[in-house]
Amino acid sequence: MSTAVLTKETLNPFEIAQAQFDAAADYLMLDEGLRTILKRPKRQLIVSIPVRMDDGRIKVFEGYRVQHNLSRGPAKGGIRYHPDVTLDEVKALASWMTWKCATVNIPYGGGKGGVRVDPKQLSLGELERLTRRYATEIAPIIGPDRDIPAPDVYTTPQTMAWIMDTISMFHGHTELGVVTGKPLSLGGSKGRHEATARGCQYTTRAACAVKRISLKGAKVAVQGFGNAGSIAARLLHEDGATVIAASDSKGGIYNENGIDPEAALRHKEETGSLVGFRGCDAISNQELLELRCDVLVPAALENTITLENAEHIRAKIVAEAANGPTTPGADRVLRERGIFVIPDILCNAGGVTVSYFEWVQDLYGFFWTEHEVNSYLERTMSAAFREVHAAAEKYRVDMRTGAYITAVARVAEATKVRGIFP
Ligand code: GLU
Repeated sequence: MSTAVLTKETLNPFEIAQAQFDAAADYLMLDEGLRTILKRPKRQLIVSIPVRMDDGRIKVFEGYRVQHNLSRGPAKGGIRYHPDVTLDEVKALASWMTWKCATVNIPYGGGKGGVRVDPKQLSLGELERLTRRYATEIAPIIGPDRDIPAPDVYTTPQTMAWIMDTISMFHGHTELGVVTGKPLSLGGSKGRHEATARGCQYTTRAACAVKRISLKGAKVAVQGFGNAGSIAARLLHEDGATVIAASDSKGGIYNENGIDPEAALRHKEETGSLVGFRGCDAISNQELLELRCDVLVPAALENTITLENAEHIRAKIVAEAANGPTTPGADRVLRERGIFVIPDILCNAGGVTVSYFEWVQDLYGFFWTEHEVNSYLERTMSAAFREVHAAAEKYRVDMRTGAYITAVARVAEATKVRGIFP
């Protein structure tokens, strides 16, 4: 990245999160004291995680758990394993969780965890030891009524099972509600695996209605083919959309006539990447983002749509399945160009919403059918979309600012009513 670009806009995710908060706080005319409280994380834990590797050597990894705001309930948010994880990134992700939970109005604050590691370089045994030690290190601050982790980038239901088991060993009994996104055999919820993508599907349908675009026959490009992206591609395909391009960290594939997302996912599972999928042309991540299409789904990492490429985005709707894929500078450009952005804290909130349902089911020991989970999810996502859209219209702002106004108002109100201790 050139320094010229860096001087134009910051790519520090925490500064971006604060700028997004400020925009809403201005509209809500929040007083200075409340702003200062809501802008910074309540708690930040940095841990060293020693792991005995398979060859006998010891490696030490750095991990984090950040709790941003606890006014509306326990902290909630995923754990990410990625070589580029930083404390500032985890702080941003934790604060996005606060606003996300408030946008869909579930009784949680925001939290996030991360370990700076490339999980693809670790054996299954190394990954298990890393996870159990990380869980032990953050154990003092997590728990069903304090902070409930879940999967995020490169963590899975198996990761959650190890964390649940580790914490349960300390407690001397099975503690189902300490993490969500667990396997179905271990107190997981039906529909959780697909929930992030389903939320993206529901909000994309609603955005298409606003923009008077038919999702049937719409052209869709999906950047990132993990849990969110691959399942969103399948669900939008089931809605009759044509998935013309998809990509992962190794490269992308393109077919104007449509890609079968399930076959593409099988190819990725067999070969480790989408690259080389039959019947498709190769395409770079950057080319994918700039394709002419109806719906672009960034479903990978932060800072995907920036001032460098925002002018070249040719989608009508951007559905943010990832967290933080668009910078504030790019947001401005997209808004000016009339592109409808479904902001991350709304678009990908289906995951944490069904995590909430999972936690409720665990605490009650009473489990729901998949139909019940999905219909509650649809009700929650539709209500949130309507509220955000109404706020955007009322304040004459884009959907992101509308979502922040909705969320910040709820958290600010809870913080104010509770009062400052002591
Ligand atoms: N990691 C997901 C997110 O960013 C899910 C968090 C959760 O389920 O708690 O929203």
